[in-house]
Amino acid sequence: MTYVVTEACIKCKYTDCVEVCPVDCFYEGDNMLVINPSECIDCGVCEPECPAEAILPDTEDGLEKWLELNTKFSAEWPNITQSKEPPADADEHKDEEDKFDKYFSPDPGEGD
Ligand code: SF4
Ligand code: SF4
Repeated sequence: MTYVVTEACIKCKYTDCVEVCPVDCFYEGDNMLVINPSECIDCGVCEPECPAEAILPDTEDGLEKWLELNTKFSAEWPNITQSKEPPADADEHKDEEDKFDKYFSPDPGEGD
């Protein structure tokens, strides 16, 4: 198994999660982060750190799409290991639905 970042991260990107990951396996896109499933050691410490509750174990039902997306984009986006300021409008997009269809961007973020 692995943990994956899901829709709730899109446009929120609080980055609290990256500080606690012991293996630095988060990667930064333009408006969300992903986990590299082959680097994640399933420790679970990031899950409760996410204010948007975006991080879930892939053993939950219906997360195939997100596992695929985390796998694909963690190979393309830069590594992020330190938290940074979230977008100014992050709180407005917290709990919003259908963020993937509305906002997902395949572009890379800045990383660190
Ligand atoms: S803490 Fe949650 S919302 Fe913030 S970047 Fe990490 S996964 Fe995304
Ligand atoms: S479960 Fe552990 S190893 Fe995997 S992303 Fe979260 S903090 Fe990192």
